Amino acid sequence: MTDEPTVTPSGKNLGRGPGPDAEVVQLCRDLIRIDTTNFGNDDGPGERKAAEYVAAKVAEAGLEPELYESEPGRTTLVARWEGADPTASPLLVHGHLDVVPAMAADWSVDPFAGEIRDGCLWGRGAVDMKDFDAMVLSVLRARAGTNRPPRRPIVLAFTADEEAGGHKGAHWLVEHHPHLLDGCTEAIGEVGGFSLTVRDDLRLYLIQTAEKGMAWMRLRASGTAGHGSMRNDHNAVTELAEAVARIGRHEFPTRITPSARAFLSEISDALGIDLDPGTDDVEAALSRLGTVARMIGATLRNTANPTMLDAGYKANVIPGEATATVDGRFVPGAQEEFLNTIDELIGDHVTREMINFDSAPETEFAGALVEAMKTSLAAEDPAARAVPYLMSGGTDAKAWDRLGIRCFGFAPLRLPPDLDFVGMFHGVDERVPTESLEFGARVLDRFLDLA
Ligand SMILES: [Zn+2]
Repeated sequence: MTDEPTVTPSGKNLGRGPGPDAEVVQLCRDLIRIDTTNFGNDDGPGERKAAEYVAAKVAEAGLEPELYESEPGRTTLVARWEGADPTASPLLVHGHLDVVPAMAADWSVDPFAGEIRDGCLWGRGAVDMKDFDAMVLSVLRARAGTNRPPRRPIVLAFTADEEAGGHKGAHWLVEHHPHLLDGCTEAIGEVGGFSLTVRDDLRLYLIQTAEKGMAWMRLRASGTAGHGSMRNDHNAVTELAEAVARIGRHEFPTRITPSARAFLSEISDALGIDLDPGTDDVEAALSRLGTVARMIGATLRNTANPTMLDAGYKANVIPGEATATVDGRFVPGAQEEFLNTIDELIGDHVTREMINFDSAPETEFAGALVEAMKTSLAAEDPAARAVPYLMSGGTDAKAWDRLGIRCFGFAPLRLPPDLDFVGMFHGVDERVPTESLEFGARVLDRFLDLA
């Protein structure tokens, strides 16, 4: 049983027309209902239908959306929104349209029905990241036709393929249509702007200023093939297994980047504890942050996890080759150290090749844009304190970073203290409180006056 649309013009009315949050729940719900599953291959439905939906909403607001396709159906939308100050450098506001797969059998609801229950909108993409797509559209549409352009020009980008690394979306756009982003100096998108409740009068809003780099590697061992009954001191399976075990057991040392250091300092202050980034009990202390500690713990060092193994075809035949896949992640500034460590660990008889490699951008938590985030959050939540953080995963920021754009994760959501927000990402029963969506739209609306 689903509720009927519960959208009410509950937004703060800023003059004529609906408030910036008036449509956000319905827009997000509509987007969830358009299945844009990205399986990492071409088996999915693609983003075209969602891009066409967004294009219609953007066009109704008076903008001229353009659709770009890296391949048929893999659609990215770009539109330009003129600012009050046309000489200001444009701000890139981006959200991806694709979602990761959802196994319906595991869910309490149909992941593509956009059900509203218990104050939440449920469905794949509710937080990653049709929520922000909907906020952007809701704010744009509320401001259209009023005399309230954003302060500076905005380039809106709704991208394809983020969940598979953006090679058919943001990276493709940067390679083939970089002029669309001419002059853009800064960007906002995922993953940040969500709240972490410390006390009733203190909520930290985590702004993403950095993300880990990605090094997915295929390891290959070559040896002497032969009969399984013979002695063989050059067995590819043995060589590979040893290399994989060395990597899997390796303890990477902590590497604290400026974003992580700033985050730990803010947390120390907020919790009234002393977190020394140099000591191991940082992770124990972080556990006081609840579920978000899992993610933060992964950002204090490089990591490398073996994820796949492949060798052999018969019990009594020694294969000539064995391969393994490793998911490596490095913190900003530690790419070279990471690769050197991996090369030491794999040894002389195993080679590695990159199957997916991407950078680890980091920017400073300072400047007018950051002040605009702080001010707009505080206006909607007096208990807000914005703090920078380093994110463990990857986003389209890696693509925009190639053009020198400073990227921030700022998709504002005031969340109830007990929601496992980090667990929502790619998780079962992904959902977002409808009030959080409305909050985000109002913050974004204020932000566009200041940014
Ligand atoms: Zn995402």
